[in-house]
Amino acid sequence: MTKSLFTFFTAIFSIGLLAQNKTDYWQQHVDYTMAVNMDVKTFQYTGTQTLVYTNNSPDELKRVYFHLYFNAFQPGSEMDIRLQNIADPDDRMTTPDKKSRIASLTESEQGYLHAISLTQDGSKVSFSEEGTVLVVDLAKPIASGAKSTFNMEFKGQVPLQIRRSGRNSEEGVALSMSQWYPKLAEYDFEGWHADPYIAREFQGVWGDFDVKLTIDKEYTVGGTGYLQNADEIGHGYETPGTKIKKQKGKTLTWHFKAPMVHDFMWAADPDYIHDVQQVPNGPVLHFLYKDDPKILENWKNLQPKTIEAMEFFSNNIGKYPYDQYSVIQGGDGGMEYAMSTLITGNRKFGSLVGVMAHELAHSWFQHILATNESKHEWMDEGFTSFISKLCMTEIMDFDKENPFESTYKGYRNLALSGKEQPQTTHADRYALNFAYGISAYSKGSIFLSQLGYVIGQDKLMQTIRTYYDEFKFKHPVPNDVKRVAEKISGIELDWYLTDWTQTTNTIDYGIKEVSTTENSTKVTLERVGLMPMPLDILVVYNDGSKETFYAPLRIMRGEKENPYEGIERTVLEDWPWAYPTYDFEISKPMSSIQAIVIDPSQLMADVNLENNVWQAE
Ligand SMILES: [Zn+2]
Repeated sequence: MTKSLFTFFTAIFSIGLLAQNKTDYWQQHVDYTMAVNMDVKTFQYTGTQTLVYTNNSPDELKRVYFHLYFNAFQPGSEMDIRLQNIADPDDRMTTPDKKSRIASLTESEQGYLHAISLTQDGSKVSFSEEGTVLVVDLAKPIASGAKSTFNMEFKGQVPLQIRRSGRNSEEGVALSMSQWYPKLAEYDFEGWHADPYIAREFQGVWGDFDVKLTIDKEYTVGGTGYLQNADEIGHGYETPGTKIKKQKGKTLTWHFKAPMVHDFMWAADPDYIHDVQQVPNGPVLHFLYKDDPKILENWKNLQPKTIEAMEFFSNNIGKYPYDQYSVIQGGDGGMEYAMSTLITGNRKFGSLVGVMAHELAHSWFQHILATNESKHEWMDEGFTSFISKLCMTEIMDFDKENPFESTYKGYRNLALSGKEQPQTTHADRYALNFAYGISAYSKGSIFLSQLGYVIGQDKLMQTIRTYYDEFKFKHPVPNDVKRVAEKISGIELDWYLTDWTQTTNTIDYGIKEVSTTENSTKVTLERVGLMPMPLDILVVYNDGSKETFYAPLRIMRGEKENPYEGIERTVLEDWPWAYPTYDFEISKPMSSIQAIVIDPSQLMADVNLENNVWQAE
């Protein structure tokens, strides 16, 4: 080969590589350094932010966007207007007569977050506020692969607690500080995600946070990040036995660092009790809760349950990757954040453990597997609901028979109501909060429990562990979890992902006819709903013996293992889904059969169970 030919070939080769790199997964990176001063009398704060942004995308960026979430808590904001126009508003955000609480906030009760100055690599940039989003036209485009440093001064006012964050919560927590700083919007292979803050939910850029917080020294702070100056601060963070030097002045400066997170939350109150627990071979747990006699016993008993839940999730999904997790009383219900959660504290014990387990499970499904919650809310709330239900059955001895019974009931209710929208709906644009709730939490949870029915329970749990392993610290999308399940099970699942998550097609199979043919029995099944599913069919005989039949779908191009250990199974011919009926034969006389049941596990979300059972007269 001559030299010129060789160069020609290597040129082609490197173009090929370049093209390949463009389709590879990439994600942006941020390094935040912030210093914030909080005035606990006015609830106003000022801050500086140095943000080093690494553009790992293949694109040159001419603009960036920041979220200014606190601007939502102003009369006339998009959040306020949406609240006034949705038929079933969140009752935390409305007065007893269903009026928006945001609409009546006085100037000193409102929230705001404003950029005062902003430079990019030392040059001034022009920026403008559009509600909860700051639009920044860059001084100089950021090339693919380049870094740019933003320096911002900002000021904010913490709103009266309306939703998620705020001051003076109903339970008397002074500061629940989530969505509080100018947060760079995410740019990924789908483009920008500069969603306005209307109801939900969040998507952030992965990176490292360094936060210095100066606040009245009586306040105990908790949240995201490891405290760097614990022995100076005290408040229960010090190394046991350390004597804390009395600080001069009225304030303390808390210094936190949080590596590889995509959000930063903190909460503060002068009356927090602070307990610390160690998970064996796991993280340190911090519990911060009000010194309120009504809740003390429950919050003490919550601590060993949190250890058990942490171990359950680490064993079943993958090891919790941080050295710390904090359960903090605050907010208005339960909300997940990086390395921490804000939950309300005045609850019955079961409810307190339940909300902890749910929010802790979000550390995996939301935080570490950081799906875009606005676009794929079901992967976040649904997967969390699924795994936290399993956890509750383990640590609280909840209904072990079918822990998902109420989940399926909720889904059927929505599917038959005519109000269902597909799960691809943006989380803010469901017509009803009811439809969002069932779709994200219940239908999302069923995506997994029903996947267990399709591919087998062992394969499901293996899928979850592998999905975690392959996509931790990334932004997985629906196809990612589907592909993992396909590779683990050897079953093709495109039909499952599309019908369940992108349509409102429902599942309804029935036993149409059972008839005698000499010494055997013919069973005619029918597909009434549009969504296809493989069928497990149980036959119970008069003498109490049982056998099962399995009709896989042709489009699965594979089969699951026998889910009923000890019961003989016959694998039938594939059912090509387009055929509305399907016959199979039982080699015993009809007179010996007591009952025939489609899916005795009830993990298939059939919307009409009445035609699933045939019983001898
Ligand atoms: Zn949740």
